Amino acid sequence: MSFPFETYTYDVAIIGTGGAGLRAACTAAEAGLSVICLSKVPPTRSHTVAAQGGINAALGNRLPDRWQWHMYDTIRGGDWLSDQDAVGFMCERAPAAILELEHMGMPFTRDEAGQIYQRAYGGQRTEFGKGALAYRACAVADRTGHALLHTLYAKALAAGVAFASECMALDLVFSEDGACRGVLSWVLENGELQLLRAHKTIIATGGFGQAWVATTSSSICTGDGGGMILRAGLPLQDMEFVQFHPTSLYGTGILITEGARGEGAYLLNREGERFMQRYAPSFMELASRDVVARAMAIEIQEGRGCGDKRDHLHLSLDHLDAAYVREKLPAVMDIARTFAGIDATRAPIPVVPAVHYTMGGIASNAQSEVIDRHGDAVPGLLVIGEAACNSVHGANRLGCNSLLDLVVFGQAAGEACARSIRPRMPHAMLGRDALEKPLAHLARLREAKGSASPSALRRKMQGVMQVHAGIFRNAALLEEGVDKLRGIAERFRQDLRMDDRSLLWNHSLLAALELDNLLLQAMAAMESALTRTESRGAHWRQDFPTRNDEAWLVHSLAWFEDERVRCGTRNVRMVSGSDQVFLPEARVY
Ligand SMILES: Cc1cc2nc3c(=O)[nH]c(=O)nc-3n(C[C@H](O)[C@H](O)[C@H](O)COP(=O)(O)OP(=O)(O)OC[C@H]3O[C@@H](n4cnc5c(N)ncnc54)[C@H](O)[C@@H]3O)c2cc1C
Repeated sequence: MSFPFETYTYDVAIIGTGGAGLRAACTAAEAGLSVICLSKVPPTRSHTVAAQGGINAALGNRLPDRWQWHMYDTIRGGDWLSDQDAVGFMCERAPAAILELEHMGMPFTRDEAGQIYQRAYGGQRTEFGKGALAYRACAVADRTGHALLHTLYAKALAAGVAFASECMALDLVFSEDGACRGVLSWVLENGELQLLRAHKTIIATGGFGQAWVATTSSSICTGDGGGMILRAGLPLQDMEFVQFHPTSLYGTGILITEGARGEGAYLLNREGERFMQRYAPSFMELASRDVVARAMAIEIQEGRGCGDKRDHLHLSLDHLDAAYVREKLPAVMDIARTFAGIDATRAPIPVVPAVHYTMGGIASNAQSEVIDRHGDAVPGLLVIGEAACNSVHGANRLGCNSLLDLVVFGQAAGEACARSIRPRMPHAMLGRDALEKPLAHLARLREAKGSASPSALRRKMQGVMQVHAGIFRNAALLEEGVDKLRGIAERFRQDLRMDDRSLLWNHSLLAALELDNLLLQAMAAMESALTRTESRGAHWRQDFPTRNDEAWLVHSLAWFEDERVRCGTRNVRMVSGSDQVFLPEARVY
């Protein structure tokens, strides 16, 4: 082996300190387990901090609501691709999860009666889609993720969780029997390599939105957990389903929360028309995100976009009471003023759709266990949060269901650890060659002597994804995209340039490691999109414009063999813990 490393032992190792990782850490540590959380950035800089609009739960504080209505909306929003046992579990546990956060000290906005304030969000109604708008998103103004992350971090510190910040998890470590025994990581500040042995390793590394140019995801969202899974020969699931959020601030990629539309903002084209009435006459701007983003793309394509270039649309809040907007949407006001010089109470905000959330991710079951391509659980390995595809969000996630997913499945993963581990029980033996592949991977990138910088290759890959795996897709576009990505991957393998070979704060090496993870997932996403010959949720094929339940009511799987993507399928779980199962219907908003 070319690198020395130190070994440390814990009961549980969690890769990621976003909402998912921290929620799992709190529960596992409170059960007496020793827990280490790794993060590329200081924990409170994790991407969850950027979440704005809210977190769903059928509390019924404003209008009567039921978790079964929430379940139905989630399954319909996901175009029936969701695993219904996972959705039922999440929606039923949601009210208790919110009350727990409240008791931890999360400073929710209050309504007139002093209860948690709830706003409307896209694709959600009462009475199984037939009733009035559902007011389900519990909010801390429009800074909900910030409040959530800080609350959980404080709780995790109090519970005795250990943190390794600015520390890059490189690869999972497996024993010969295929069980995960921990993770190999690199500490940026002192260059140390660490083998973190654990009875359970939980991946909570977030999404891979950075594979595209126009994205609301921060630069650390490189889906590293997905890369580790693919290098381990395990599958990712539903990678073709990528959510384009309708309203990012034109020219910046900064999100303008759907909460704005929940509070009454609407979309206008250059003729001042509320064009959503032609696409979703019943839900209008609160149709599900894939529907609104597609409508916006069509408006722009057909020349009804705003501005000289006709390349964006307007989000209007100026008809709303200014004091109300300032109170409920302070971050939207700040963003519009700081980055566009606009007072949103007086002028419309220019917006375009941007990549926002990756529904696809690491294949897992409703217990958050990572599964192989035959559906068998990989011992010792769990996945939660945006990194996971378990699959509650199906083909399209509803707004405010991600934060809920983080806390419900985070807590459940922590409980699973508490059930299966006795504190400080001895660790299984690990063969000497267990680290061979992870260390060889690191060495290959560190010693690279070619001419292409990681940042140049990353920009190329992002450009290809933007053009070839965007809102509208077809076979020719995707085939070309597959070829271009293969070319970039080949260049990455053969011609990568590494300017710095040290292990101290080596940003070049960090960029190469992240790019490796991104590229693998980009390839899996492009090939999955080519393989799925139907339109469902966020995956829109111009050459196959309808949903095809007969052939495609299945999850897609993608894994690597001989450096090529292989594709397969897995059945959707149409079962639930309660008797409630929702069969596919036409999806009309
Ligand atoms: C602007 C914006 C607004 C949003 N608003 C909402 C909202 O209002 N409601 C809602 O439900 N959802 C919202 N979402 C979606 C939601 O915020 C995310 O899906 C969610 O926060 C992801 O949380 P996570 O815990 O899975 O991962 P993240 O919060 O992304 O955290 C990932 C963690 O993994 C760590 N990590 C990654 N790779 C490695 C590695 N190799 N080694 C060590 N550590 C690693 C990172 O450092 C980080 O700590 C929003 C998203 C965006 C972009």
